[in-house]
Order: sequence, then C-alpha cells, then structure tokens
Amino acid sequence: AEFYLRRIEEHKTLNAYLDVRPEATLAQAAEADRRIASGEAGPLTGIPVAHKDIFVTKEWASTAASKMLEGYMSPFDATVVRQLKDAGMVCLGKLNCDEFAMGSGNENSAFGKVHNPWDPNAVPGGSSGGSSSAVAAGLAPIATGTDTGGSIREPAAFTGVTGIKPTYGRPSRLGMIAFASSLDTAGLLGQSAEDCATVLGAMVGHDPWDSTSVDMPAEDFTRDLDKGVKGLRIGVPRQWMGEGLDSEVGAAIDEMLREYERQGAKIVDIDLPTARLGVPVYYVVACAEASSNLSRFDGVRYGHRAAEYTDIIDMMKRSRNEGFGSEPKRRIMIGTYVLSHGYYDAYYLKAQRVRRLIANEFHETFKSVDAIACPVTTGTAYDFGANADPVSAYLSDLYTVPASLAGLPGISMPCGFHSNGRPIGVQLLGEHFTEARLFGMAAAWQ
Ligand code: GLN
Repeated sequence: AEFYLRRIEEHKTLNAYLDVRPEATLAQAAEADRRIASGEAGPLTGIPVAHKDIFVTKEWASTAASKMLEGYMSPFDATVVRQLKDAGMVCLGKLNCDEFAMGSGNENSAFGKVHNPWDPNAVPGGSSGGSSSAVAAGLAPIATGTDTGGSIREPAAFTGVTGIKPTYGRPSRLGMIAFASSLDTAGLLGQSAEDCATVLGAMVGHDPWDSTSVDMPAEDFTRDLDKGVKGLRIGVPRQWMGEGLDSEVGAAIDEMLREYERQGAKIVDIDLPTARLGVPVYYVVACAEASSNLSRFDGVRYGHRAAEYTDIIDMMKRSRNEGFGSEPKRRIMIGTYVLSHGYYDAYYLKAQRVRRLIANEFHETFKSVDAIACPVTTGTAYDFGANADPVSAYLSDLYTVPASLAGLPGISMPCGFHSNGRPIGVQLLGEHFTEARLFGMAAAWQ
C-alpha cells in the first residue's frame, strides 16, 4: 500500500485519482497485517485495489466525477466495495471517470481529463479512464470499473490492460451510482486475465438489495486458466469488421486468431447483422434510463444545491443546471424526449424490440460457437479533443454496445501495438455466465 501511495503521489499529473486518503488506506493495510499474523488471511488479503468513483464508499468521497456530488460522503459502501474489503483487499482511493460514466475518453469528468500513460496527449479511454490509466501506470495492481456500453473494455484496450465485464446481474449494482440500470455492470481492469479472474471471484454472489442480482452458487473463475483453447470454436463477424476498422487493428486480431488456430481452436465465420443496430438502440435505452435515474439529483436530498433561488422549482432548476455537465444534460434531454408521450412508441419501444432481436441473435450464434472474437474499437486511443463531436463519439461505441444490450460477458485484452506506439485491444464475448471460459481463452493468448 505504501508503495502504491508513493507512486500515486509521483504520477499525479495523470489525474487518475480523485480522492486519496493515506490514513484510511494504511488503516486497512494494518488490519490486513493483523489478519495475516493471526492466520485469518485469504488469498486477497493485503492486496491493494482502487475503485472507480461510481462506487460509493464510506471512507472516500463519492462523486461520479460530477460537480453535482462534489465532496459527497456516502453512509455505506457499495456491495462490491464491501465484498473486496471483506476479502482483505486494501483500498487505495477513488478513480476519475467520465461524469456519471457517460463518455468514451474520460474527457467528460468535472475534475479534469485523465492522461494515457503511453502518451500524455492520448485519452485513456472511458468512462473507466482513471481505472485504466492507474493500472497501466502501476498506480494500482487492479481496479474496479463499470461497463454500461463498453466503459471497461474500451479503456482497457486503449491502455494495454485486461478488462472484464461480467454477465449483467452477476456483480451487485447496490451502491453503483446509476446511469442505465438495465445495462450497468461492475467489473475489473487488471494486468492479466489471471488477476481479474482471481479478484472477480470475490465480487459476485447474490445481493438481496439488488433486484436484478442473479442467485447462483459461487464459482472459481480461475478453473480454466490452464485449459487452453483446443477444440473451442471461435466465431469471427467478418462483415462487421470492415468499414472504418484500422487495418493494423484488423491485422493484429488476425494474428491472434492464427495463434488460436495453432493451439487447436477452430475459427468460424459468423454474421451478426442485427448487432450493427447496437449504437442507435443503446443511445435510446441508455439515455431513457439515465434521464430517469438522474432525476434524483434535485438539490433536495443530497448533492449540489444552488446558493440563490426564488422558490423550490427555481431551486431545482438552478441546482441541476449548475451541477450537471453538458454530457449528462444532453442525455437527460434525449432520454426525456424518447420517453415522452407521442415518441415513446416510435423510439423507446422500438429500441426495446430491437434490443431483444440483438440478444436473440447472440444466443442463436452461441449455439454454434463458444466465443466471439472482435475488435473493441475501430482504432487506438485518440488525441484529446479528436472525438469531441457527440455523434461521432457515440458511433465509435459500435463494437462494445451490442454485448451490453444482451447482458453478455466480455473480456478485453491487449493484442500488440500499433505503429503509432499505442496499444491495440481485442475482445472475446461469450454466452451468459461463461466468464471462466473467457478467462481461459484470454490466458491462452497472454
Ligand atoms: N461510451 C459509452 C457511453 O458513453 C459507454 C459508457 C459506459 O459504458 N459507461 O455511454
């Protein structure tokens, strides 16, 4: 813990952390020492972890990188935070992210952008950009993240680390500041599939306080790490990987597929025609849910309250206007529009129907393949400001949102470097609850 606290201090310019409290970290480390000395230690006891600032924490401020929640102290720990603490992990602090997890480059934080350790002019990905930057720069051995439409997988790809978005419903959402509740999934960014598999085992399990938490027995996610890929069928959606894909990213993925073939996997061509509708469906559904979730920030119960106002309506208007940045405002407007009388059927209902078709298409595909390999992004990490137009930013989520809409697990892992010096990522997607197999496949490549 002392080692990482020192590194965090030395690499402050990355702006990966939003709240660091050494005394709280060292108290948890002392408790870990006590458990180790008294023989109560488990495999994770004493290992540091940092949390995306979407998870609420009792001992560190919880802001969702929004002015709306600046300095907010939660009365409880998110379930995931509590589970990792119970396992003996030592919290290093809270990590920067896009405001309310809305974004792809961590440029939407109210507390400043996060830098990519590979190139300070490049984004670290988003929204879990503090998590990816911290892991890539060695400011935490592993970090939590959240993935609603790609926010673990894309930053992992942009920084050359491994990210796991588990099956929706597997980790608890209690204490995750809500963006789009039917999509929000907690996960991890770490240095390897093995690290992620080991820690993920401690952050799943039924949570009666989360209505969509699945009730399944605990599982050893490390069980397939040495199994290899012999006999596995890997589907590749070639038609989807054409237009707009950087040729070096495509070539890196082909190289990986050849290696899998050498190891005995079978590469199968698949088509996912409906998945290509993922972006419009995602931005209708996610904004609709965000507009509802963010209505709780009204200046009354918690969060920012305007200093001056005339009456209660004026107080709410001013508080929301001052507290939210432009991206949450844009999404509240879009979401309110698609849910409004007269547009609900045309947009929201239609999006829900296409969402079902996308999920069905994946389930059909997984009858003939064990996993799908595809890019995470069309290119590598971009320069600050290069993806500022909201429509082009939304369109760049094409490879990550379909799996989110279907609630599938996905692992994003490093796949070499581009000639521009920035890391390339690839993702493996699986049917619900096949995380262990995905970890095994990732380990066979790593
Ligand atoms: N880039 C996507 C968005 O802006 C995904 C965000 C996320 O997964 N939290 O909504």
